[in-house]
Amino acid sequence: MAFDAEAIRKQFPILSRQVHGKPLVYLDSAASAQKPRAVIEAMTHAMEYSYANVHRGLHTLANETTDAYEAARRKVAAFIGADEGEIVFTKGATEAVNLVAAGIGAGLRAGDEIVISEMEHHANIVPWHFLREHKGVVLKWVRVTDDGVLDLDHFQSLLGPRTRVVALTHMSNVLGTINDGKALARMAHEAGALVLFDGCQAIVHRPVDVKDIDAEFYVFSGHKLYGPTGIGILYGKAGELAKLPPYQGGGEMIGIVSQDEITYADPPHRFEAGTPPILEAIGLGAAIDWISGLDRQAVAEHEHALYARVRERLNGANWLRVIGEAPGKGAILSFTVDGAHAHDVAQILDRYGVAVRAGTHCAEPLMRRFGVTSSARASFALYNTQEEADVFVDALTKAQAFFA
Ligand code: PMP
Repeated sequence: MAFDAEAIRKQFPILSRQVHGKPLVYLDSAASAQKPRAVIEAMTHAMEYSYANVHRGLHTLANETTDAYEAARRKVAAFIGADEGEIVFTKGATEAVNLVAAGIGAGLRAGDEIVISEMEHHANIVPWHFLREHKGVVLKWVRVTDDGVLDLDHFQSLLGPRTRVVALTHMSNVLGTINDGKALARMAHEAGALVLFDGCQAIVHRPVDVKDIDAEFYVFSGHKLYGPTGIGILYGKAGELAKLPPYQGGGEMIGIVSQDEITYADPPHRFEAGTPPILEAIGLGAAIDWISGLDRQAVAEHEHALYARVRERLNGANWLRVIGEAPGKGAILSFTVDGAHAHDVAQILDRYGVAVRAGTHCAEPLMRRFGVTSSARASFALYNTQEEADVFVDALTKAQAFFA
């Protein structure tokens, strides 16, 4: 049976609103996805019926909330094939990468090497730059081909005896390129490096099995996965998390505290100092339940069909430059329009109700690689329709006429 995007849309209240008198066409899900009613209701229910702080109460509401929070951890674990003790709740993917970089970085020395790529989001660049600045660690950048593919020969050539960490995106938020996590992890492991994947985009569009990929760390955010903001996931192999020092100090992450001594809790609680994002974890758990009820293969095919339609309709457009044409790429179209700044393109599209992103997409090295200062980006999600794809192409064609 064909995927029913119309039925899915009805579960997203925001999608029925209008923008500038036109039906909203939301093509900015790679930045943040809209929320289904299941997520909104799970969070509202918690606030209206069963809410307290977690882990420290002996009363009913505290126990219920703790159960809901820990159930969310189990849902995340099951979703990616991990054990619950390997799931750390953070405030986002960004915090998760920072946590790992700070922890591993504590043991690195000047001259140690970290391999990242030209297609990384700043979240998977800047924390490693900190180590370059503060520890003299050397950053090695894997090149990206003109099509937007990670250059595997170049990657192999960068791996060596000083490689300590390989930190790569599983799917580019600009190019849509999907990297082969398992193969990359194997190559990195042969060089003796620890591996981290930024799964922010990949987790939304494909099943992820962290045991199969076999990276030490895998991070993502809740808000792109139809869950709330303010929550992210750090998956770490149990043995690797156990080696990491605490990231922040405070309540809940300790063993004992006295005036001249301190011990720390075991992972994952060692990394969850203070009151955690309780409602957000519950919301993410609901998002995962919701996604797990869908035929994910059908979703992927639907998203791909949207991309294919747009790409085909824009095929003859000599005023358009598409950035990222990797085989098997996800449903993200980054582009520039001749003679136009991406911000202007986005603002004109907005007048037609079409929401796209424009700028550097927190990927300045990639922009530089492709010789542009910015691009516009339309990203397609399961709730977008063929009609919306057409509205976008028509609006873009009209927009470019302003600049011709
Ligand atoms: N990595 C990628 C590939 C992303 O797309 C994003 C979000 N744009 C991030 C990391 C950072 O995620 P967050 O801002 O939710 O921490």
